[in-house]
Amino acid sequence: MICATLALFATTCLQGTPSQGPLIRRSTWSGDQLARMVPEAFWDRAHHAGADLLLQPGQVLRLRLPTPFPCRSAGIWWEGTVGGWRASWEAGEDTLVPLPVASDLAPELHGARGPAAAAKVSGLLHSYRGIRDVIYLEITGPAVLSSLSLVTIAIGPGGAPHPPPQPALLPSGSSPSAGYPKPGVESRSTWAADPPACNPGYCTVTHLAVHHTAGANEFLSPGYAQCAANVKAIQSYHMYSRGWCDIGYQYLVCVHGRIWEGRAGGDDVIGAHDSHNCGSMATAFMGYFHSPYSQRPNSAMLGAMAELGAWKCDQRGVDPLGSSWYAGFGGLMDNLYGHRDVGSTSCPGDLLFAELPGLRAAIDGLLSGGGWTLVLDNPQANFSGNWTTGTSSIDKYGPDYRWASTGATPSRAWWTPSLPQAGRYEISMWWPAGSNRNPDARVGLLLNGRLHSTTVDQRIQGGRWNLLGTAWLPAGSGTPIGLSNEGPTGTVVIADAIRLIRR
Ligand SMILES: [Zn+2]
Ligand SMILES: [Zn+2]
Repeated sequence: MICATLALFATTCLQGTPSQGPLIRRSTWSGDQLARMVPEAFWDRAHHAGADLLLQPGQVLRLRLPTPFPCRSAGIWWEGTVGGWRASWEAGEDTLVPLPVASDLAPELHGARGPAAAAKVSGLLHSYRGIRDVIYLEITGPAVLSSLSLVTIAIGPGGAPHPPPQPALLPSGSSPSAGYPKPGVESRSTWAADPPACNPGYCTVTHLAVHHTAGANEFLSPGYAQCAANVKAIQSYHMYSRGWCDIGYQYLVCVHGRIWEGRAGGDDVIGAHDSHNCGSMATAFMGYFHSPYSQRPNSAMLGAMAELGAWKCDQRGVDPLGSSWYAGFGGLMDNLYGHRDVGSTSCPGDLLFAELPGLRAAIDGLLSGGGWTLVLDNPQANFSGNWTTGTSSIDKYGPDYRWASTGATPSRAWWTPSLPQAGRYEISMWWPAGSNRNPDARVGLLLNGRLHSTTVDQRIQGGRWNLLGTAWLPAGSGTPIGLSNEGPTGTVVIADAIRLIRR
């Protein structure tokens, strides 16, 4: 183990771009300067050969790097080969996380003539616990390093607003429009995007590309505002490290399943993401879905991608299951492909790449209308608390139903549908109506470990299917739907039947 603190007297390149964007700086050390930072006790010829820092296999160098200003995000560029990088905004070895190379920023990409030149570029590390002025970096050998740059990003004025969270169970009655509807997208203004540095170009979209951002701690983002700040930092990094006009991806999807607008210009704008670009709309999943992290894309992310893909495939007549000529690539390619299909990279990671067949099928399912239907009556539900079987209401579903008094012993009914495939499902509930019912009966959907709830007025609309909302659900039986007796005393709730239709 070797530890060193690098002061910024080394070589500091002050370049602040984009001009109106957040403060961004690069601090650079040569291999020679790095080697001189190694404590004397460890100093020998093996650590230093000409201008390079050398580390033996398994040898570890820890650096404590002060940042030139308080900042939130950082990445590194390096020239040479390194066994591994880890980094943290906190002191303490257990907080170090791997900092993998961001292959979407590889120097061979079209138009990649920025300050990073031939250097390898890592994904970003963000601080979710306030601004920081020190970053901890660990280099594991074998390594031959001729230079190391630390790129630090502060978040400038503007910031992101905090809209209310979108419930999984949405109100019914959205008016149908021509074509498959475009899902909700967080516009560039929500993440305070900088304007593009040059005019956009256009190619009609024939293909959908799936990437990951290689920013592993983006997958750990605690909420909306931090996701917005992450997108902003990615834009700054893209524009600064490779000199791109704008963020490379057309869309990004965060861990919460929100879709973020990327590159400015709208439909068919050309991005910078796979070295080919013309005709391909890129969506980057924010995280790292590959060893050593092996983060796993969740159903909210996959559902968002499926909705976005269904909209674009419908709009441009793209068959999500087919392949066609990809103009930028100059060859046939699956209409929905992963970055690694068109270049030498691990992107979008083994675990996300494995989801692509399911995504193609899900998009096809959305466009073909589905229609698969499942009804679960009260005998198929699990009950806890105090429930009584009733038969007297004539507008019941099937021969009977169960009822529970509100506000008494906590009582729950859970229906657990078994879904043959992932997709968008319309969820409805049936109850017999009556004047003694709870006007605010709480109904919930458990999805990805979170309960999304809404209320129904069981005094009215009896004897029919009432739409609770639609949600993108994973295959299997991990998304139970529940009814609760919570609320003031004096009324009852009725557990009768639920229905799911794949749309
Ligand atoms: Zn990629
Ligand atoms: Zn998010």
